[in-house]
Amino acid sequence: MRDFSQNHRWLSINTATIRRSRGADLPLTDIIEACAQRGIRAISPWRDQVQAAGLAKVSTLVRSHGLQLSGYCRGGMFPATDAAGLKAARDDNRRAVDEAAELNAACLVLVVGALPGALQGKAAHKDIALARSQVRDGIADLLEYARTAKMPLAIEPLHPMYAADRACINTMEQALDVCDELDPRRSGESSERPQAALGVAVDVYHLWWDPKLEQQIVRAGRDRLLAFHACDWLTPTTDLLNDRGMMGDGVIDIPRIRGWVEAQGFAGYSEVEIFSTGNWWKRPHQEVLDTCIARHRTAV
Ligand code: ZN
Repeated sequence: MRDFSQNHRWLSINTATIRRSRGADLPLTDIIEACAQRGIRAISPWRDQVQAAGLAKVSTLVRSHGLQLSGYCRGGMFPATDAAGLKAARDDNRRAVDEAAELNAACLVLVVGALPGALQGKAAHKDIALARSQVRDGIADLLEYARTAKMPLAIEPLHPMYAADRACINTMEQALDVCDELDPRRSGESSERPQAALGVAVDVYHLWWDPKLEQQIVRAGRDRLLAFHACDWLTPTTDLLNDRGMMGDGVIDIPRIRGWVEAQGFAGYSEVEIFSTGNWWKRPHQEVLDTCIARHRTAV
């Protein structure tokens, strides 16, 4: 297992972590500058932030700073109530692949979606099996497109508390079942990118509780482990979405999970991804980044 205690060589910042500074929106261009100033070598930006700053401008900035993208957030949200909705999701996901390729991201992260309408407050139906089959079909279609763009797709299983509104894939086992069905040969392995075309993003916040986690990380193996996301699970958690903790402040044994992932040969970035309306987003982003760097050394 790599030693993170001496430097932050393998730290990546998911830009949602400092999307707000002292409670105000922080533009992606400022986020990039703040990361570069601290010798942070990788980020994982969100599509809305890239759109607001302009893809070409972000692409230029990333290149001029020599920044890498540990991932691109995010594609997915496949289920819909009708053919037009499914096609809109398909088209939008293809654009996400194109953007990820332009930014040379390590992978496009997929938050796959769930019951249509639930995220807006009213689910159109209760058929989670239907949602899961639409997710499967959506990924199958996108995979063909992503292959031509040489962009690996990372399914991110979300904690089951999001099964209704954000993602109906909730465990590594479920995600890997989809991977094995759609990409049984673990295709995409090449000298350019040593990963499968379809794999998973391991986010400790979503997966730490799973009794099968270590077993499924072994099953995933090197070529399906495309991303590693870190934050902490606070007790109590006061908001289901936006009360993620700083590494070391909660109950997740992050080094243990990182050890499992690295035992498979994962050698990518450790991406800090914290959504925190009540705490970290209220603080100055400089303080948040400095804390991320310090905790990356001691608690990841
Ligand atoms: Zn994540």
